[in-house]
Formats: sequence, C-alpha cells, structure tokens
Amino acid sequence: MINGNQLSLILLATNACNAACEYCFEDKTSDSLSLERLQLIIAKVLDHMAAQGMRVLSINWQGGEAMLLPPDWYREAHAWIDEAAARRGKVVHHGLQTNLLAYSPAWNGVIAEMFGNSLSTSLDVPNRHRRVAGHDTAHYDALWSRKVTMAREAGIDVKVISVINPGTLEMGAERFYTHLVDELGITDFQINTPFPGGADNPAKQSLTLDPTDLARFHCELADIWLERGPEQDVSIGPFDQLMNVFLDRDSCLPCIWSKNCADELIAIDPRGEVAQCDCWVTSYPGYVFGNVFECENLTGLLQHSRARRQFADRPMQLLKQAWTGSGSGSGSGKGNVQADESGDCIACDYLALCHGGCPVRTYSMRSTLLAKDPYCALYQSLFRHMEQRASHCGLAQ
Ligand code: SF4
Ligand code: SF4
Ligand code: SF4
Repeated sequence: MINGNQLSLILLATNACNAACEYCFEDKTSDSLSLERLQLIIAKVLDHMAAQGMRVLSINWQGGEAMLLPPDWYREAHAWIDEAAARRGKVVHHGLQTNLLAYSPAWNGVIAEMFGNSLSTSLDVPNRHRRVAGHDTAHYDALWSRKVTMAREAGIDVKVISVINPGTLEMGAERFYTHLVDELGITDFQINTPFPGGADNPAKQSLTLDPTDLARFHCELADIWLERGPEQDVSIGPFDQLMNVFLDRDSCLPCIWSKNCADELIAIDPRGEVAQCDCWVTSYPGYVFGNVFECENLTGLLQHSRARRQFADRPMQLLKQAWTGSGSGSGSGKGNVQADESGDCIACDYLALCHGGCPVRTYSMRSTLLAKDPYCALYQSLFRHMEQRASHCGLAQ
C-alpha cells in the first residue's frame, strides 16, 4: 500500500501482446522494457519506498503479454531487483499474470525461482472474446489448455481469472463450477465482472449483463462452493475473502472493494507512464499520473498529480454527493448496467466494505469517476448473501 508498509506495483514488461482479445482494454504498443530502463524505474520506486517508510514491494508482472520477454530477461531482472532492494533493506515479492500462450518448459526455472512456482492466467467460460489474431476462440482455448497442462505437469500452480459474459450466465453456476473444477481441474480461481475499458468496439458493447441474473449466478456459485469447495480444496474469489470478512477472519479483498485503490497500488508501463492500474495506463492517457523517466522522483509525481487526486478523492466525493444530493453520472456511458446511480453509498449497509466500488468500471460505463460502481446491485446482493451464509456457519461452529 502506498500509505502503508507495502507498495503494490503493476509492472507492464511490455505493451505488446500475442493475443487479440476483442474486449481488451489496453491500447497496445510495441514498447518493451529494457533492463536499463527497468533499473531506472526500480531505483525510483525504491527511493519512493524509502521516502514513505515502506518495506515490502509487491510487483505484479503483466503486459500486454509478460511472456513476450524471454525467461533470461526475467532472470536478470529478478537478480538485479532483489539485490537492489536488499541493499536498501526492502523485501520484494513477484507475481506473474500471463495468457500462457508463449509458455514453454524454458520458463520453468524462472517461474520456480522468481514466482514461487505459481502464476495467474485468464480463462472465460464460454470463451466469447479471447483469441489469437486470425483464429477463432476454440483455437485459443485449445492452445491455452495445452499450455496449462504442460505447466501443471512441471509442477506449476496455475490460478485462473475468469470474466463473466452472457454465455456464462446462460450456462449457469452448476455447469460453470463443474467445468472449471471437475473437468479442467482448476481449484483456485477468481471471477471478475466485465467492463468496456479503453477504445469502444462492438464486442465491448455486448458485455452488458443483467444485474439480477448476475447476482443470482454469483449467489448460486457461492452456494455450490460453500457446499463442495472445502472437500475439493477449491478457492473462489471473491467468495472466500467475503466469508473471511463476515466471519471476522483476516481477509484480503480485491481492489474493487479497497478503501481507496489510489492508496493501494500503481501501474507503470514500459514507456514509464504511471497510472492507477493496468486498466488505465495505456487506455486512458488523460488519466496518466506522469512519467517516471521524466520526473525527479516518484513521490513528487504521485503527490502532485492532478489525475491521481481524482482517484484519491473519489470515495469522499461519493459521500459528499449523498450529503448534497448531487448524484453524478447520467448513464450515458458504454455498456450500461441498470442501477440507481445517485450517490447513496452513505446509506449503504456495506459502505465500509465496498467504498463505492471500482473507478474503472464506473468510468468505462458512466464516463465519470464520480458515480458509484455500476455493479452496485450485484455487490449488495452478494454481500447480503455471504453475510447470511457466514452467520449460519457461525451458528454451526
Ligand atoms: S486481454 Fe490480455 S491477453 Fe487478451 S489481448 Fe488484451 S493484453 Fe492480450
Ligand atoms: S481502478 Fe478498479 S481495477 Fe483499477 S486498481 Fe482501482 S479498483 Fe482496482
Ligand atoms: S454496494 Fe453500492 S451503495 Fe454500497 S458502497 Fe458499494 S457502490 Fe455504494
């Protein structure tokens, strides 16, 4: 966290990708990080951590597609970063988000050494938008499955992020769970809601989901997981962390429900552009905080960025709307989700859990930061459901 002991950094090793997913929010470029530029970035990040009294750096390596840089590049990057951090008394954790299409056994060593033999990848069920240019989605799924099998055979722990689409809702929670867990053997996955980030296109217009259907799917999937997950050793985010919250256990909620994501993380791309997260850094140039190569220091860049202040102020602005009755957002953005947009977070039972939700979901659907998350209705239903399920668990314990 920027205000805590830990800094979470999403580092885009490259803005290029070997896939061409139709719903991709990134505005891809051919830029990739050189080791020299990486050293400049890390030096400024470590300076910033020293200035803020932070000890732990958590780097999530992404792209574009992170595996377009070779394993040897990461090996050198790993050695250099960890040594530079250790010299300054800092600890670094590395995570890897990849589409896995470029995976080969040549990666096994660096995945073990740098990423704790674990990685995160993406799979949508059914796949409506993920593809390699010139091929259909079935080709992507077959290639992805082959790579996942190879990685698993090498002992790599493969976690999956799955974005819900209308087809997922049609197939239903039971079939979805069975496919992922029983047929594909995936035991650690997270479900995400879609948003039409970045430049508009027809695929992004079709991402809209009915909030009632979406809430029903989430609650049914949570129930299936509560029934079968413990025996099968299955984790599903965000259900597992919500149960932790409602059972008063330590929890680690996704950033969409953080107190303020501006206090939690930043993203830097290979051009040095600094932004809130990977959803913004290439997609919305007007919301870039600044350039790490052009600034004197990262602390000053973050402190003086007007763009960043808009993120930092958003939760309080949402509450002010409720006090003044000036709810913002006309629902004129892309991919509308039907929901009451007025600034009513202050009256919400789950304000302390949700804080108004995710800025990029809001901006991409409402064309403003100053509205609550368009998935509000889903969140309220899910929070209520998990709270009830937790209270029954609590009684049973
Ligand atoms: S969604 Fe990810 S894998 Fe697909 S094109 Fe975009 S960056 Fe590449
Ligand atoms: S904009 Fe949304 S996805 Fe990005 S860091 Fe904030 S909460 Fe997370
Ligand atoms: S659930 Fe809805 S009303 Fe409650 S805090 Fe989140 S966005 Fe605001």
